[in-house]
Amino acid sequence: MTNKITGVNGPITGWLDGHTYLIGLMAYPIRHSMSPTMHNNAFAKLGLNYTYLCFEVGNDKLKGAVDAIRTLDMRGSNVSMPNKKEVIQYLDKLSPAAKMCDAVNTIVNDHGVLTGYTTDGIGFVQSLKDEGFDIKGKIMTLTGAGGAATPIAVQSALDGAKEIRMFNIRDKNWPQAEKTVKTIRENTDCKVSLTELSDQEAFKQSIAESDIYCDATSIGMKPFEDKTLVSDPSWFHQDMVVFDTVYSPRTTKLMRVAQEAGVKHVYDGIGMMIDQGAASFKLWTGKEMPTDYIREIIF
Ligand code: NAD
Repeated sequence: MTNKITGVNGPITGWLDGHTYLIGLMAYPIRHSMSPTMHNNAFAKLGLNYTYLCFEVGNDKLKGAVDAIRTLDMRGSNVSMPNKKEVIQYLDKLSPAAKMCDAVNTIVNDHGVLTGYTTDGIGFVQSLKDEGFDIKGKIMTLTGAGGAATPIAVQSALDGAKEIRMFNIRDKNWPQAEKTVKTIRENTDCKVSLTELSDQEAFKQSIAESDIYCDATSIGMKPFEDKTLVSDPSWFHQDMVVFDTVYSPRTTKLMRVAQEAGVKHVYDGIGMMIDQGAASFKLWTGKEMPTDYIREIIF
């Protein structure tokens, strides 16, 4: 009889058997995540005997969960809030970018040695490359200083951005913004600055001089869908890139303002999301994620 889920006749071998590699996602809350759907479909498409499962783990259960990666010989895990910084103390090694961001979203287990990586910034840079834009040598204005903006700034600097001009409000993320500026100065040749967003003249001038404006704040997503940090189309020029890290809604207010200005290259955060997953996928499996297929079936 045909299995209703797999369409396979008879018993299934080579998939969820005694040889299956397990990848986790440790965060809380996390049941809403698209990552299991993305990775499991990519494993199935390539015929890889891996499976990806969500585990509701907060800071309180994190040590035990990371120990279990070694004990159960899992291939690795993703980590999300509230564990991205907390997890570092339980790992053996960090990638240069994870060290600079002081945050990890991917763990790889090599025979009991756990290495932490951050792939969000890789996803950002790669998603731009997919559109034919190389961050190398470019000037970027960046709003935000949190979980998305930090790896975006760090990876862009590591990948040769000429200058990054960060703008943020003076809220709880301000010290993180200052740390990011310091680590970029210490570890790369990228010129980097931090300015308060309340200095609107400096913000406007910076965008006018930039090759790319990236918004990595929570403005544009629920409950701020009707808001944008740039509402005047004349601030943009047509040849620049305007990138909103938000992926829901698909077209944000910022993107509409950029389109009204005639900006040719306006992108949402879906490409970054898929490409950060693809970078983790490669670290675990050594294979390229079939990203066009994933985009087609899921997003
Ligand atoms: P976060 O809470 O860590 O950071 C939010 C940032 O927004 C902070 O710098 C904060 O100062 C700023 N901010 C908040 N309110 C503001 C306001 N009124 N005016 C100006 N700035 C304000 O959140 P995060 O995890 O960095 O997420 C930020 C955005 O990035 C979200 O929209 C999220 O959906 C998106 N994101 C996308 C991806 C992707 O793969 N595409 C990955 C992670 C996050």
